[in-house]
Amino acid sequence: MGHFCVRCGTELVTKVIEGREYEACPRDDFVLWRDPKVASAVVVEADGGVVLGRRAIEPGYGLWCLPGGFVNDDEHPADAALRECREEIGAGVEAISLIDVYHVPKRDASSMIGIAYRARLAEGAVMKPGAEMLEVRVFSLESLPELAFPSHRYVLDEFVRSRERAEAAEPRRAGAKARRAGPPSRAQARSRPERRR
Ligand SMILES: [Zn+2]
Repeated sequence: MGHFCVRCGTELVTKVIEGREYEACPRDDFVLWRDPKVASAVVVEADGGVVLGRRAIEPGYGLWCLPGGFVNDDEHPADAALRECREEIGAGVEAISLIDVYHVPKRDASSMIGIAYRARLAEGAVMKPGAEMLEVRVFSLESLPELAFPSHRYVLDEFVRSRERAEAAEPRRAGAKARRAGPPSRAQARSRPERRR
């Protein structure tokens, strides 16, 4: 409470909209909507492990996290993810794809919608910690350090699961490709209508 209208400066009052209470202007139609903030997090694969940065800022000073951050208003979340990688680990990434979308509820601040991506460190890229990182390192998934955010633990778990799913699907996919590319099987050849008479 104690907020003011961004249009006319009048103190906002409580207004019920569709069964929820909001702060709204009594003089015009301004409503202080309580929207979630959108953030991205990126699992960057490198040298058989994943890239983490050790935070040089609060929250979580000194703890490790995935590169990522808030998505700007005019940015696609995947572009925000690429930008955060350049800013935080000082390196380009490629082959970015979606892992999952998650929700981080908060009581005293806007809750968060997280968009988790996986990507690969770009060929020949050399990492360098950005201003918000003390250091950046590659960790194997079996020996991850203490993370700053529980949501990043979730993202890494989902990453492992998505990789296992992809690996489980791989033999089938490879088989399908071979069938498409290879010569027709006997059964297919037989089922083809005879043209000569
Ligand atoms: Zn107003």
